[in-house]
Amino acid sequence: MRNAPTILHLDMDAFYASVEQASKPSLRGKAVIVGGLGPRGVVATASYEARVFGVHSAMPMAQARRLAPNAAYLVPRFGIYRDISEQVMALLRELSPLVEPLSLDEAFVDLEAGGAAWDDSSARLVGAKLRGDIRAATGLAGSVGLAASKMLAKIASEQAKPDGLVLIEPGTERAMLGPMSVRTLPGVGPATGDHLRRAGIHTVEEIAEAGEDELVRLLGKAHGHALYAMALAHDERPVVAERETKSVSVEDTYDVDIHDRVRVGLEVQRLADRCVRRLRGAGLSGRTIVLKVRRYDFSTLTRSETLRGPTDDPAVVREAAARLLESVDTTGGVRLLGVGVSGLADYTQEDLFAQAAGELGEQQAVEGGEDGADAVAVARGEETPSERKWLAGQDVRHAEYGHGWVQGSGLGRVTVRFETPGSTEPGRVRTFRVEDPGLEAVEPLPLVEERPGRGGGSRGAAGSGGSATSGAPDGAVVGGV
Ligand SMILES: [Mg+2]
Repeated sequence: MRNAPTILHLDMDAFYASVEQASKPSLRGKAVIVGGLGPRGVVATASYEARVFGVHSAMPMAQARRLAPNAAYLVPRFGIYRDISEQVMALLRELSPLVEPLSLDEAFVDLEAGGAAWDDSSARLVGAKLRGDIRAATGLAGSVGLAASKMLAKIASEQAKPDGLVLIEPGTERAMLGPMSVRTLPGVGPATGDHLRRAGIHTVEEIAEAGEDELVRLLGKAHGHALYAMALAHDERPVVAERETKSVSVEDTYDVDIHDRVRVGLEVQRLADRCVRRLRGAGLSGRTIVLKVRRYDFSTLTRSETLRGPTDDPAVVREAAARLLESVDTTGGVRLLGVGVSGLADYTQEDLFAQAAGELGEQQAVEGGEDGADAVAVARGEETPSERKWLAGQDVRHAEYGHGWVQGSGLGRVTVRFETPGSTEPGRVRTFRVEDPGLEAVEPLPLVEERPGRGGGSRGAAGSGGSATSGAPDGAVVGGV
């Protein structure tokens, strides 16, 4: 391990919710919850004001609504999140060629490789300047962790939140880690955490005390060795510019198409087990279970289910894969089956939901197929031509009133608040019939006025599907007049 804190971990604070607050002046300082608004939706990001009520990412949306009934509930707008993410990643690449993005709002940077920092004080200066540059470019806050390894840099940025910087001085790592929960360590998902707890191991120090042999006995060779090393603050993982593993998956192609439905089911179970072994071997857990089926005519379908929390439990993955299989027509025969787990908990805690949805959408778009296209529409919240749907949070423009966003809709009405990122005070609210010809869906506006000469602009769809009712923060009428 290097002896200077020159690995930087950046994590944007409550990223999606912060983008929404910056876009929508009426939501600044208010509880904002972004996620899937459908019956099985989960929270992707909650603003700090919403976290006060106990709402956190990965929580079922229904539970969030009980805890914070007056919060604003919005669908994610991936297009603008991606644009802002690109701006942030570009700033990181100015510091070093070694930038490893973990999700849209999180990345490791090797400052030493870029010659940007070599000791405590140069690292601290770079981190502070970066936070300022991000604020200037995007208007948003990001927290920075600095340490001599990836694991510790990530722990440091967690401690720095919100809107802060924490540097862990080399030499102090073990004392700091000792009393922390085992769940702090990368690769300790809920199942591994339970397993350790049953063995009486709760803290990082207790892992170190248990010894390597005991860890290997409990968790197997690969995972046991890795975890013991982490508990001693040994983490030699390099920052890699390209992330190779976004998901863990296994698949099998069959010489002869499988027709028997029972056999298909058994193969899926077997693949689920193999996938979990690989997942555990890598010390990971994940939240999104993906089933891939290639049929006799080479049409390929992927189906996915996002769980409420990350898992590395074979029974959970098997059950999810079996549920997904139920929705796939396999009459005619199956050439290939695959099971994967994505949204891996080693490197992302928040924003898993959206990341998984985004990745899945791209995959399906490439693979095509009728059913795949449907799934993309659901994942991205694209408007279906047959039915005009207004999703809470989506950008709209009215011929008479200008740019605004959908605050809620229902019963044939849609409520729009007319304001832009540059508005100095909350905008006016108006309610229209859903088919009002003056109202149209439009692209998001940039958060910070673009300087002349800088290209770019925003793109992208309005986010994830689901019903679009909103608990408006100031009690505006939703779904009626
Ligand atoms: Mg974040």
